[in-house]
Amino acid sequence: MKKTKSKKKAVKLKVCELCEKEFETLETCQECGTEYCKECGDVGRGLCQDCVDYKESMKNTSTEDSE
Ligand SMILES: [Zn+2]
Ligand SMILES: [Zn+2]
Repeated sequence: MKKTKSKKKAVKLKVCELCEKEFETLETCQECGTEYCKECGDVGRGLCQDCVDYKESMKNTSTEDSE
């Protein structure tokens, strides 16, 4: 484990906009700009859970062919 010295005394924690827990680092959703923790979204895709759910629902409805 690496220890990094911070210049400021207090570690400023960010609050996840989805679960409202505090984290040192948060991801920013590329879709809506929400700051989320890695438990509240798909870090690999850069999306918060809301946008993941939205895209999943889009996929389910739109790829269904209706002829
Ligand atoms: Zn969260
Ligand atoms: Zn989002």
